[in-house]
Amino acid sequence: MTIDNYKFNGKKAIVRVDFNVPLGENGKVTDDTRIRGALPTLKKILEDGGSLIIMSHMGKPKGKFNPKYSLEQIKDDVAKALGRDVKFAKDCADASEAAANLKPGEVLLLENLRFYPEEEGKPVGIEKDDPKYEEAKKEMKERQKEFAKKLASYADVYVNDAFGTAHRKHASTAVIADSFDADNKMLGYLMEKEVQAVDNILSDIKRPFTAIMGGSKVSTKIGIIENLMDKVDNLILCGGMTYTFAKAQGGKVGNSICENDKLDLALDIIKKAKEKGVNLVLGTDCIAADSFSNDAKTMVVSCMDIPDGWEGLDAGPETRKAFANAIKGAKTILWNGPAGVFEFDNFTAGSRAIAEAIVEATNNGAFSLVGGGDSVACVNKFEMADQVSYVSTGGGALLEAIEGKILPGIAAIKK
Ligand code: AMP
Repeated sequence: MTIDNYKFNGKKAIVRVDFNVPLGENGKVTDDTRIRGALPTLKKILEDGGSLIIMSHMGKPKGKFNPKYSLEQIKDDVAKALGRDVKFAKDCADASEAAANLKPGEVLLLENLRFYPEEEGKPVGIEKDDPKYEEAKKEMKERQKEFAKKLASYADVYVNDAFGTAHRKHASTAVIADSFDADNKMLGYLMEKEVQAVDNILSDIKRPFTAIMGGSKVSTKIGIIENLMDKVDNLILCGGMTYTFAKAQGGKVGNSICENDKLDLALDIIKKAKEKGVNLVLGTDCIAADSFSNDAKTMVVSCMDIPDGWEGLDAGPETRKAFANAIKGAKTILWNGPAGVFEFDNFTAGSRAIAEAIVEATNNGAFSLVGGGDSVACVNKFEMADQVSYVSTGGGALLEAIEGKILPGIAAIKK
């Protein structure tokens, strides 16, 4: 079933969204992008004459109530965005009455799903090496099924519009779908768009294809890096991982972030890129700082020769040029992860050079996909989000989808 073809009038729809929005000190929403992202789906249901039960997670409360992560804090923002009142259910597992009382056009927001260990389905208070772990896991999986059934019982139809958690087999993202037949479950508009964007990258690659992987570590990106090696023409590896590559090749990296146990892996990536004919672009010079702070003293040095007491926090001018050259001529572009500590205003140049080159390539007809919290924060900071082809709401989910993995949240709908 597709959301466009479904008539929601008189139906109760339970919708999994990603309202994991950043909150300021005072508990106020500081960036409502994710709320706005879900609006097309939520409004379609309400305008059709359906009633809405909205569910989401926020943060990592590890299976228990924590007021810091209560979705009650965002109730008014959701109400404002929808232009109507929103009721709130403090207990996700006990909302039958509130759901049953919903009239067409009414909205009920459930409390943070992750206050319940059943949502993630991981046993709590027991370590993986405990002999009783497997038993506890089995028991928790059963509890997860029951929790998912309870959520499903509130509604006639299930919509998944939370791409950011689609790579997780959680109660609300996947298990719940088993309680609905194929005619009564579907992806929301945001999910449809995300799936389409991944498809654009993977199905009909216009060449050259340039992927830019940044961020702090090689270890968390290795799966996608290896996978991309079979697909891309240019692979830019930047950000903190620059220094693992520099050290692996005999460089001196001072205090720079460096994964000493990943030096062989870095050499292996260099070798594989050569074998596969991929143009691997690594940082050659960097902006080194004498401390990890925005106001640190800086100098441009070779990534291979960073003095003791200094650390590379951003890409240098020569590197920025090389990055831009590999991006400007591309026809397909994927960017995940910043090229420097972009949170500090004085270390944004590398990420900005990447964003500018992507915008130029996009203006010349490239399809550009930017995904992952930090690269999205970059294009927002540079006010360039509307100048790339697509900004994904997914981090891990996007990377897994690009790796070609079937995402449980999507598979559960298609079943
Ligand atoms: P990740 O979560 O692995 O995608 O990494 C994102 C983080 O990497 C951002 O918070 C950046 O500040 C950080 N980062 C990027 N470049 C560097 C660097 N050269 N040194 C330390 N952290 C970095």
